Amino acid sequence: MTPLPFLLRGLRELGALSLSLEQTLVRDGILTLTDFELAVGERRASVGAQGLRAAVSMLAADRAPLTLGRASDIADAFSAALTAGCPELIDVDVSGEVRRFEQLPRELLLVGRSRHPPGAVASIASLPGVTGVLHRTGRRVIVVFQGHEIDVRVATPDEYGTVLFTTTGPAAHVVEIHRRRGPRMSASEDELYSQAGLTYLPPEVRSAPDAIEAAVRGRVPTFVTRADIRGDLHMHTTFSDGQNSVREMVDSCAALGYEYMAISDHSEHAAASRTLTLDLLERQREEIARLRDEYPRLAILHGIEADILPDGSLDCPDEILASLDVVLASLHERCGHDGKRLTARCLQALRHPLVTIITHPANQLVGRRAGYDMDYAAIYEAAAATGTALEIDGAPGHLDLDGGHAREAVTNGVTVAIDSDCHRARSLERQMQLGIGTARRGWVEPRHVLNTRPLREIRAFVAQKRA
Ligand SMILES: [Zn+2]
Ligand SMILES: [Zn+2]
Repeated sequence: MTPLPFLLRGLRELGALSLSLEQTLVRDGILTLTDFELAVGERRASVGAQGLRAAVSMLAADRAPLTLGRASDIADAFSAALTAGCPELIDVDVSGEVRRFEQLPRELLLVGRSRHPPGAVASIASLPGVTGVLHRTGRRVIVVFQGHEIDVRVATPDEYGTVLFTTTGPAAHVVEIHRRRGPRMSASEDELYSQAGLTYLPPEVRSAPDAIEAAVRGRVPTFVTRADIRGDLHMHTTFSDGQNSVREMVDSCAALGYEYMAISDHSEHAAASRTLTLDLLERQREEIARLRDEYPRLAILHGIEADILPDGSLDCPDEILASLDVVLASLHERCGHDGKRLTARCLQALRHPLVTIITHPANQLVGRRAGYDMDYAAIYEAAAATGTALEIDGAPGHLDLDGGHAREAVTNGVTVAIDSDCHRARSLERQMQLGIGTARRGWVEPRHVLNTRPLREIRAFVAQKRA
């Protein structure tokens, strides 16, 4: 029996994490390849060689932080595997921090509903794609899937709401709600909140310190949902660094049932792999004109994502910008500037009459780069005063404005746009969903969002600022 912490310490000292693990361990007499006791955090379990191999390959893998985008991809793939290969499950939900749209989730957690949990656990453990089983009881199994540890709880229908709620967290919220309702099982989260005498709080807002107070006072607004979204105003094509043609993006947006969309490729100055020269912009204009005839039910807006240059001007002449349906502008390049100068550049772009939306305003890169340290109060004030929208960008790398900023923005009267910033057609829906989850973390309601409005109001929003 070799507890994992000891094992790992030994492995690190040996520098053996990237070598053939088993050979090294056996050679040095640290263990034999039978069964091992595995301890991960507070969890301990006996695992076979396969489980150990999986655990170590996981630990030895590049430990880049798990991001929401990556985590939700893995969770979705695993949910699909469960649905296809586990008939004992009635349905399954993603839970934990991923369900709350935390940008850097620390765990992957799913909850399945089943009338016979032990049978469901057994079939989960032997699903195709599961490369290791780290822990298993009659109601819980921790597996390795795509190199990541996934914790699956299985609940009966009458206790499902409680298990989903408890695993969704965060802990302080769970403790407070349980204190209000006493220890009992609920079939649904709706029922659970009503037992606590509260209106339902969606997962995205449960980490807000004032969430319970809002529920107590009956002041939980109706948050924006996917059904409210009428179009997507930010996406890229092969004219800049996108993977798909204009036609493919249009076709996918039509399939999503959007009323409108905007093609918004990178302008000339952008550091993207390819950018729009003015010649290319004209060719794109012609292509869009042709597609408008083919897709009469979808309004295809021609836009651009212009760069805000070091002096605060845009990298595209005004007469060109004025010929487009919508202009997006972004601070892609810090240019060595401090927060004060970045703020000044952003404010100048906000005051530009042709700029409709500032995209991913903080320019954060989830897990890699914090957002710019700008004067956001000044930015919100200027956005509201000038009638410029600030974006909540659903690209998994951006998720910006994030929930906290988004909430501040809408509280200060700013209109937000929730966009996919998509670079490939097949991710349009997924990135819109990530944007919506991020917006909901910011208590964003449909009335705050530009692209919940009909096309004529979008055009009026653009025109009002241009006037
Ligand atoms: Zn951008
Ligand atoms: Zn973009």
